[in-house]
Amino acid sequence: MKLNERQIEQIDAQIKRLIDSDSYFGRMYRDAGITGIGSREDFEKIPFVDKAALRDAYPLGIQAVADEEVVRIHSSSGTTGKPVIIPYTVKDVEDWAVMFARCYETAGITAGDIMQITPAYGLWTAGIGFQAGCEKLGAMAVPMGPGNTEKQLQMMQDMKSTVICATSSYALLLAEEINRRGLKDKIYLKKGVIGSERWSEKKREYIARELGIELYDIYGLTEIYGPGIGINCQEEKGIHYWDDYIYIEIIDPVTGENVPDGEEGEIVISTLVKEGAPLIRFRTHDISRIIPGKCSCGRDYPRLDIIKGRSDDMFKVHGVNMFPSQFEEILGMIDGVSSEYKIDVAHDEETNRDIIMITIEAEGRVNFENTAQTVRKLVKSRMSVTPNVAVVSVGTLPRSEKKTQRVFDHRD
Ligand code: ZN
Repeated sequence: MKLNERQIEQIDAQIKRLIDSDSYFGRMYRDAGITGIGSREDFEKIPFVDKAALRDAYPLGIQAVADEEVVRIHSSSGTTGKPVIIPYTVKDVEDWAVMFARCYETAGITAGDIMQITPAYGLWTAGIGFQAGCEKLGAMAVPMGPGNTEKQLQMMQDMKSTVICATSSYALLLAEEINRRGLKDKIYLKKGVIGSERWSEKKREYIARELGIELYDIYGLTEIYGPGIGINCQEEKGIHYWDDYIYIEIIDPVTGENVPDGEEGEIVISTLVKEGAPLIRFRTHDISRIIPGKCSCGRDYPRLDIIKGRSDDMFKVHGVNMFPSQFEEILGMIDGVSSEYKIDVAHDEETNRDIIMITIEAEGRVNFENTAQTVRKLVKSRMSVTPNVAVVSVGTLPRSEKKTQRVFDHRD
């Protein structure tokens, strides 16, 4: 999406605000000789910022207003090192609620709905964001927070909740419990608003079918308000995002250059009207693309495709971008294999070709050779490369408490 005149003015004002407040990024721009932007070309010269810089500015170095203007902070939990703290003004909190309410409206939720909110409340942006949007819309919030499934199911029946807000994992757990206890006829759920973690189509279909509800994926990240900056509409063709609050560009994660609409790359977000902590060209490391053209729902808000993975996890074979998530999806389709896998990529000098080797685990009851064949066929048809596949017994591959390394690249 091209940056329009109004957005250029807004980003210019955001940069000037940062410089005037002598905040972390303001000093960065001043040292780089940046005073603002007047064109798209100027904008594309502004350096990217990322989570590492936000950590570096811990706790409140990125704050761009006086202390008395800050009414709340939120924090994103880092898996490593210091967390990131984001300060919000009255306007920021209000703007976020307006965006969230717009998400609900896009999902067809109305003031008559009863919304059971199960994401966590607290430093994290989830629960409180879902709640503020619900109140802004005028619907009724049942602010449960996570866990205590017994009580969730009781309240769901007694309050006749019509909308469930949850992470995909928790929605799955609730769906399984409702199914197991035969409560399907006693619940009133019509829609689910699901947090933005990546989830497989298999899981999605199960939840939608078992609960008999429509599902909506909400997008967002703590650094940029929180969840609620975009959601899919009933057409289910991508996520509409609110370009009066944020500007999204898609870049090549390696070169940093903008890619044309329709092409895949990393999502980079700039805030347009944020006060407490404006962010210009924030690298999300989420991979997606802008869907060109207007949505058949009639809304003018631009669209992102579903989030395909993280740029940190991406690797290339024969020039094709690949993500571990694509392999996870394939494994999810095959009977008798575990969720564990390992991918080795190497280069064969003789044929001058890259070789991809997938190691998967299977239960003793299935035929290893047939399973390997199935994986080979599915990878070939879906990803246009033919891998070598090794099948080992369940429990052979290493397990890790933390994030397991899946891809080992042996090419120079
Ligand atoms: Zn639409």
